Amino acid sequence: AEEAYRKRTERSREAHAAAQKVMPGGDTRTIAFFKPYPLTVSRGSGPRIYDADGCEYLDFLNNYTAMIHGHAHPFILEKVQAAITLGTGYAAAIAEQRELAEILCGRIPGMDQVRFCNSGTEATMFALRAARAYTGRPAVIKMEGGYHGTHDAVEFSIAPGAERDSRQPGWTPIPDTKGVPESVARDVYVAPFNDPAAVEEILRQKGEEVAAILVEPVMGVAGVIPPLPGYLAELRRLADQYGVLLVFDEVQTLRLDLGGAQRKFGVTPDLTAIGKIIGGGFPVGAFGGRAEIMAQFDPNQSGCLSQSGTFNGNRATMAAGIASMTLLDERAIARLDLLGERLEAGMRAAIGRYAVPASVNRIGSMLNLHFTERPPVDYASTHSPYKELSKLVHLELLNRGVFTAPRGMWNLSTVMEETDIDQAVDAFADVMAKVSRHL
Ligand code: PMP
Repeated sequence: AEEAYRKRTERSREAHAAAQKVMPGGDTRTIAFFKPYPLTVSRGSGPRIYDADGCEYLDFLNNYTAMIHGHAHPFILEKVQAAITLGTGYAAAIAEQRELAEILCGRIPGMDQVRFCNSGTEATMFALRAARAYTGRPAVIKMEGGYHGTHDAVEFSIAPGAERDSRQPGWTPIPDTKGVPESVARDVYVAPFNDPAAVEEILRQKGEEVAAILVEPVMGVAGVIPPLPGYLAELRRLADQYGVLLVFDEVQTLRLDLGGAQRKFGVTPDLTAIGKIIGGGFPVGAFGGRAEIMAQFDPNQSGCLSQSGTFNGNRATMAAGIASMTLLDERAIARLDLLGERLEAGMRAAIGRYAVPASVNRIGSMLNLHFTERPPVDYASTHSPYKELSKLVHLELLNRGVFTAPRGMWNLSTVMEETDIDQAVDAFADVMAKVSRHL
């Protein structure tokens, strides 16, 4: 696989080598890196991207779910181009902020009020600040495998080794990176996803310290792991019982329903972090929730919480975000779900045909391939002796013009056609045939 990849991506290899002189690893995003070297992409159009050698790829990664309408969508481009002729940033409000805020607060059940920032990382960071200030407590419960961006408080137990037994609610956060001070770990507790008893145990012993339960209602980066029936409702109940705020990280899951996973599953959090699709492809994050909690950010009040950012609510992002959310109506989401079903069915058929020990987790237009006998329900159950095969599948798919995440995540865009799905399924079947010979 690697040899074929090297052969067709000669210019990406050169670009990467040159970039390495000025950027460690030749890139500026850890998650976008893979071996032998990542692609350098020259352009994108609709559901496709093109690399520096001119090779074409159907994009099933869509910038980790951000590009829900594919690349260079004409409607979004038109709105952004018109907007930026007026200038791109001033230290003042613009009307478009209110427009996007009204769309989001109108759709998302737990969002009375919202504030914009520039990334999902900032969104979870400010949501936690709001929760800590509101409750006057320092600690946070997060789930093993949960990804919430790259600020200190959430860089724990995202991808601990298989030896870590997550059945033990030992609450010991494992730093995912060096450089996070020990002192931060003191205020982080970790529970397995889909295990409300583990959360309850932490709350029973440490409840008075805990400000927030932070959870992706469907785990994204960990492998598209949906909640078991009743799990989110049970977290809601526990949060209420212990006076803790329930914070949903819907940075990826907002795409699942007009009102996000919280509307789909009928459980309303106190605070919600969002990002990606609400910026129409531009840098964005936002957090919001109950008016009473969000009121802490009102500068009319003395002692208000600080939340600044030079590019918060900037014109390009707001224009693209309004356009993106306007395109994403009920019909668009229903169609994405149908395409998702088609992709899942095709992948399952290929897995069955070649008797590969793999499973597919899917919800709506997000999907993850796992080399496990049974669909994982938490981080620990994603472990498999065949886990390394994901990297092979990734390279083999690239060689066949299908762009996915090295860890097996796929997601769809509204500009995809049935024929695009079928083309990807054919490539996938081809790869499964090859993988079955490796077993
Ligand atoms: N939360 C979740 C659930 C995410 O998937 C991501 C990004 N993949 C983030 C937060 C961080 O967002 P950003 O990369 O915009 O900082």
